Amino acid sequence: MAIDTVAESKTSRESFEVTNPADGSVITGVPLDGPDEVAATVARVRANQPAWEALGRKGRARWLGELRDWLLDNQDTVAETMQRETGKVWAEASSETPYVCDLINFYSKKARKYIGDEKVPAHSPLMKVKKLKVTYRPHPVVGVISPWNFPLILSLGDAVPALIAGCAVVIKPSEVTPLGLAEIVEAWKGEIGGPDVLDVVNGMGETGSALVDEADFIQFTGSDRTAKKVLARAADTLTPVSAELGGKDPMIVLRSAELEKAVNAATWGAFANAGQVCISVERVYVEEPIYDEFVSRLTAEVGKLNQGMDGPEHGKDVGAMTFPPQTDIVESHVEDARTNGAKVLTGGERGDGPGDWYAPTVLTDVDHSMRVMREESFGPVVGVMKVRDSEEAIRLANDTRYGLSASVFGKTREAEAVARRLEVGTANVNDVLVGFLASDVPMGGWKDSGIGWRHGEYGIKKFVRPESIVISRFGGKREPLYFPYTAKRRETLRKISDFFAARDWRRRLGRGGRGR
Ligand code: NAD
Repeated sequence: MAIDTVAESKTSRESFEVTNPADGSVITGVPLDGPDEVAATVARVRANQPAWEALGRKGRARWLGELRDWLLDNQDTVAETMQRETGKVWAEASSETPYVCDLINFYSKKARKYIGDEKVPAHSPLMKVKKLKVTYRPHPVVGVISPWNFPLILSLGDAVPALIAGCAVVIKPSEVTPLGLAEIVEAWKGEIGGPDVLDVVNGMGETGSALVDEADFIQFTGSDRTAKKVLARAADTLTPVSAELGGKDPMIVLRSAELEKAVNAATWGAFANAGQVCISVERVYVEEPIYDEFVSRLTAEVGKLNQGMDGPEHGKDVGAMTFPPQTDIVESHVEDARTNGAKVLTGGERGDGPGDWYAPTVLTDVDHSMRVMREESFGPVVGVMKVRDSEEAIRLANDTRYGLSASVFGKTREAEAVARRLEVGTANVNDVLVGFLASDVPMGGWKDSGIGWRHGEYGIKKFVRPESIVISRFGGKREPLYFPYTAKRRETLRKISDFFAARDWRRRLGRGGRGR
């Protein structure tokens, strides 16, 4: 129903098709927003932003609470659309709205702590005569550019803190998966009746570029290849960009690990969302004494995964590939590994159509000369390597241009010591992927995995600019720093400044230091 609204609302324009990756059928056409439409949308929400900012944190949080309630009441309808456009299994298609609801509650509660006004005591005694405050003012319009693997989490997940911070937000969702988000934004404007400070523009790279030109801050999630274009474009207007990019996440299994937990975690970490997760486990390094058992248990566990499409009755574990070109990349990584001597223990081929499928795949006898161990696969394939000890595991885990997240399994203290040496934004100890769900702590990438963070204090502070308010407490007619610069006035100032700057009494009292 809401999908038709997207198609009918702007019928005269060029449009693009959205397909169901599980069966290849066309779901609908979506009108394309070119640079003119993007500029008009940004101008409209920009005009409404001052009133939104003036509502205050509590007023804005009340509106976001309305959105949370709508999402809770309509989560199954949203999940249906999500499933159709992404090919996710039901458990995963229905897991995005709970994240957004939790984030609304989190930032509504924490906004005062993270971006509330601060009174700052002056460090210099000379400035004690001033009252110092910092107030955090929003970037007026935030542009959110998002990918196709989690169409709500990676768009609304950033829009929520930006809105709570007082920004207006325009989202450019992936052209592959724009429909679920469109339903929600339609509800915000219609059924919820929210202020006109949240909108969507649809299209490909050109639409994204136009948003970079118009917005005051860009929150980008996607590949490092596109991020470089976004950063180059943003340089023209000196627009700040926060970029959450790809990964090649390692998992390290120490000999002290609880093996069954490590195997279950590797299976979920590598194949959740068919491996199309930026923080998927893509490489596993296992210490020699437990390697054989780990591999045989992992292969058995992966072999049990049930791939296909389900519905609210559940029953399937691994869904379709959302974006056909990604399946080509996965296939090429597996073929490259196979050609260079890797063993395919399970999977290793496309599934039968209609639709786009790739079987959950475990590879061994892999090494770092192979693409599957160096480049982001972003699909259902994992390579497992034997290592002599934790030192070798750490060296190999860090041998990558990426640095998004990682996991280490073993006795807690030992595993944490290893985790602290990994070059990543988030390290999970005895678990996988969950760092993303801990909204209290920052989540971001080192190296080519990103610039900036989401979640925690960083996740909202990036959307505001500090404005320092410096208030004179006393009403003298002429402050000591003002003109005229007479010898007497400057001498008095110097005495005062020496008194406070010096850390010994000779200098404090103007009696000079060494050599005077
Ligand atoms: P992508 O870089 O191809 O596209 C991302 C978005 O950028 C899309 O909306 C696209 O239309 C838009 N875009 C394309 N060209 C543009 C341009 N020139 N200017 C502005 N916008 C432009 O990425 P994708 O294929 O949609 O997503 C997969 C990638 O995203 C993977 O690398 C994955 O690891 C990464 N990712 C990162 C995170 C994270 O939080 N770090 C989360 C999910 C996905």
